[in-house]
Parts: sequence; C-alpha cells; structure tokens
Amino acid sequence: MIPRRLPDHIINQIAAGEVVGAPSSVVKELLENALDAGASRIDITIEHAGMALIRVKDNGHGIQKDHLPLIVQQHTTSKMPDNCIETVTTLGFRGEALPSIGAVSRMTVTSKTALNDAWSLTLDAGKSSQVTPASLDEGTCVEVTNIFYPTPARLKFLKSPATETHANVTQVQHLALAAPHAHISLRTENKTLLNLSPGTSDPYKERAGAVLHTHEDLVPLSFSTNQASLKGFVGVPTHNRRTSDRMFFLVNNRCCSNRAFLTSARYAFGDLIPKGRFPVAALWLEVPQEDVDVNAHPSKMDVRFRNPQHIRHLIETAINEQLNRLEPHTSQELSEKIIASLHPFTPPSAPHTSAPSFSVPLTHTFTPLRATQTHTQAPTYTTPVEEPKTIPLLGFPRCQLHKTYIISEVPDAIIITDQHAAHERIVYEDMKQKAYSNTVASQTLLAPIVLQLSETESAVLQPLHHHLERWGFALEFSTNGVVVSCVPADLKSVNIAKVVEDFFSEIITQDTSKAPEEALHALCSTTACHTSIRAGQDLSLHEMSDLLRTIERTPAASQCNHGRPTHIRLSKTDMDLLFER
Ligand code: ADP
Ligand code: MG
Repeated sequence: MIPRRLPDHIINQIAAGEVVGAPSSVVKELLENALDAGASRIDITIEHAGMALIRVKDNGHGIQKDHLPLIVQQHTTSKMPDNCIETVTTLGFRGEALPSIGAVSRMTVTSKTALNDAWSLTLDAGKSSQVTPASLDEGTCVEVTNIFYPTPARLKFLKSPATETHANVTQVQHLALAAPHAHISLRTENKTLLNLSPGTSDPYKERAGAVLHTHEDLVPLSFSTNQASLKGFVGVPTHNRRTSDRMFFLVNNRCCSNRAFLTSARYAFGDLIPKGRFPVAALWLEVPQEDVDVNAHPSKMDVRFRNPQHIRHLIETAINEQLNRLEPHTSQELSEKIIASLHPFTPPSAPHTSAPSFSVPLTHTFTPLRATQTHTQAPTYTTPVEEPKTIPLLGFPRCQLHKTYIISEVPDAIIITDQHAAHERIVYEDMKQKAYSNTVASQTLLAPIVLQLSETESAVLQPLHHHLERWGFALEFSTNGVVVSCVPADLKSVNIAKVVEDFFSEIITQDTSKAPEEALHALCSTTACHTSIRAGQDLSLHEMSDLLRTIERTPAASQCNHGRPTHIRLSKTDMDLLFER
C-alpha cells in the first residue's frame, strides 16, 4: 500500500471525532469563539437538545468578508499572534472548531464587522459554499443543523434528549463562569433554560450564585501559594448533591474537568457530606502559564500541571481552611425545603388576641451531660438556669420534643437540633482531636477479642499496627489472626466484641492501610455512633444547654459525621409569612 494524504473532508471528520463529541461540544466551541470575539451578549438557541439546531449569536467584533473562507479551514486561527502556545490567553487557539463542526453538520456562519455589511458562508458536510450577502445587525451568528448526518455512527452514541439538554446547560454554565461580565442566555423550543445577566456589585459571586443555584449557601475561598492561587466559592456542606455536575473548575479562566480538582475538592469535604454525595463549587485557579499545559486534549477540557501534587494540596487546604471556620448554620436550601413542606393553613376567622405562650420552667437539676446516661423519667427542675447576657449562636434551649429534638430560641428564629446527630459530631471531633494529639485513653478488656484473619487481611492490618496502638488498641498478631486486649476507652457498647469486629472488618475491606487517616475516621465514626446520646433519650435543660454550647465550639458543627444536618433554623420572618402575620 502506498502512503497517501487523506482527503480534507476525512481529515476534518477525524478531527471532529475528538472536538465534536456531542451537541454540547458544539455549544462550547461556539460560545468560546463568541467570548474570544469580545462579545458582551450571547444568545444560544437549541432545538431537540441541539440535535436539530444550535444557534449562537453574539455582539462581538465580527469576521471580515474575506476571512470567512479562511476560518473554515483546518488550523486557521486569528488567535496565536506570536505562534506560541504557552502565551495564548484566548479560549481558542487550535483553529479546528469551525472546520470540524462543518464537517459533521450543515453550518452557516453569518457575520458583520462594525464598518462592513453582513456576509455569510455555509459548510455542508465539509463542502464550502460561496460567500453571499446576508442580513445581521451586529457580531456573528453561527447556525448548526443536522448534526452528525455525515457520520451517522456518532448519532447512535448520543444520549436521550433530556441528558443532552442537561449537558448543554452544564456546558454553558461552566463557560459563563469564565465571563461573569457577559449576558448569556440559553433557550430551547419552548423555554428559557438560562438567562445569566452580568453581575453588578460582585460579578464573580453573582455569577457563581446563579450557576450554583444559591446565593446564601456559598462560602468564599481565597488562597495563594508562591506557585498558584485559588479563588471561588463552595456550597456549605449541607448543600450537597447526588452528582458532581455542579462542581465547576477553571484554570487560568478556561473550563477544566481535571480529575485532580474533583477528587481534591470532594476529599476536602471528607465526612462533612454523606458518602456518595458531592458539594457544589465554582473555583478559579490561576497558575503561571509555564506551569500548565492547556493543550492536553483537542476538546481543551483538560490540562496538565507541572506540579499536580501542589495543586491538589492547594485545593484541599483552601477548602479545609474555610470549612473549619464555618459557624453553625442552616443552609438556605434546607430552610427552603422545610418551608415548602409546611403547608400553610387558613387562619381561624375569630380574631386572636395574643399568641399562646408555651414555656418550660427555667429550672432544673444539674446533671452533667453523659452520653450513656438513660433517663427513665422526665427530669424535674429545681434550680434556675442562668442565661448568659450574650445570646449564643444556637440560642437557649426551651424544651425537648419527641425525646429527639431540642428546641431553642434566638431573637430572630427558632432552632431545632437533632440531639443524636449533634452529639455524634461532638464525640467524633473529640475522638479525632485526642487521636491526633496522642491522648487516647485505653481500656483493658476482661476477655480479649480474637479475630481470625486471612493472610491478605493481616497484610492490610499489619501496616496500621502502630497507628492502632496510638489510638488505644493493644494488638498481638499471630499466624491466623489478631488478639485485641485493649480498646479505646471512649468506645462503649454492650457488645464491644461485635463493635470491634465490625470496625476491623471495615478497615480491612476498605484497605485503609495506605491511608491511616481513613482508618482513624472509621474508628472515630464507630466510636461516635456507639457512644452518642440516642434519639429517645430524655435530656434535662442543662444537658440540652451543654450540648448546644459544645456543638457551637465543635468544628463542622452543622452536620453529623454521616453528613446529615445537626440542626435547622426556622427564621421568624419565614414563620410570620407562613402564619400570614
Ligand atoms: P480558534 O477559536 O481556535 O481560532 P475556530 O475554528 O473556533 O478556531 O475559529 C476560527 C477563527 O474564526 C477564529 O480564530 C476567529 O478568528 C474566527 N471566529 C470564529 N467565531 C467567531 C466569532 N463568533 N466572532 C469573531 N470571530 C470568530
Ligand atoms: Mg474556537
């Protein structure tokens, strides 16, 4: 066989295979071009999830008539003035989007520059038309129809219209973060999917809020090292989602779906959100251009870092720092859910005088909070509770309901605390702190626990030996197992052997030998779960007060170690609304 150069339309189709994977990649490329053209307003229309039509209209600087035939040719770009990839600052630079899109669809580019009339050119399955006069008020409009008709195999790989539409929305949201000053809309046949107007006072925050669907639940981040800096917003932990589709990352203002970002950001949230759930985030990373390769993939959605470890560490530290500083709060999302679930009722027609007052006498017997203590009777109140002058964050406890919820009061809200969830976080953090400072107390078991282990199980456990001893265990390995003669003193349970066995089998199945920290978290979690006050346990006012004051001082106080909320806040304004006051 004689080597030969492939015909251009095949070359373009091959390139399109990588650049144009789905309608959303067309949307991405066209939106990037519009932003590179300095557009401040971009309107996108899609029909049938982009499979029937994608139209992107911008008010950018436009394309001259004699440039139209050039820009639909492979590797033709106006964006790399000094032929140096390292110094490119535009979103595009490869010069292959338009020819690739036109190779696998029917694409019409219409454009008008400030000084000239509008002209248009069509590329149909890679075949270019003549440039013809057209009508357009300003900027550029690119219309793509019949996507993938020259490559029907690709059509079969497309997902359902709902999924493709979601991909389009996510793509536009992602790029919209790169241009918070631009007005960007996305419409489909019968509705407006996005209408993102430019922010006024704090454009980045406003855009992040619009894209992440929350303004109140955002935690701002700003962190720099000598190698990179990270700015942006993450949602409070209680604002978490089933998928990672609202975790948006930008590197030097380019959209990026680098795995390191995703894993590090999720890792930073650790046990603050439930397993299998994801935070929301919009993060902008700035790295010197020489430390990042933006040309890692034709779709430009991934980058390579010169020092990926540093970047991972930076993301984790930036997020951790802020999360550790978070005060107890109820996420806006949660409050909205609560309010929506409370059905307003028609107020009684008889005029009411004043709201009935409901109070629990502010007296009690002093009983320090003990996790394992179980009351059989409701406590009696004999001594007055002294309320401090300053109002604590979670307010003063007023009563306990259903032996599960503590109701407390602050001037503008009532707070409902789940006693088990709150105490679980307290015990968990306390245990962690002791473990890190090597102050875990140990208790000797009357009857040592013998665990049979296979060779591979032993191999996982052996490297953790030293850590397990620091955490209060005394272990002796033999050929076919391990004998546990001491366990952490905080670990209390009627069936300690079962708890210890469960803990060891968890760290073995998860193979935490390489990451002792995970084994520690599993231990703290087990301890917290078995030691915390339960739902169904009576608490005196003093115990409630103790619990609230302690949770206020505890890190990550808003959720238990499984990521469930520890308390919720019902604002007085919301209640007044509900009661039509
Ligand atoms: P790249 O963006 O990498 O340069 P493209 O194939 O996406 O490659 O676009 C080719 C060229 O077409 C761009 O370099 C630019 O000069 C021009 N162009 C494309 N879209 C627009 C637009 N919306 N407004 C102005 N110029 C555009
Ligand atoms: Mg481009």
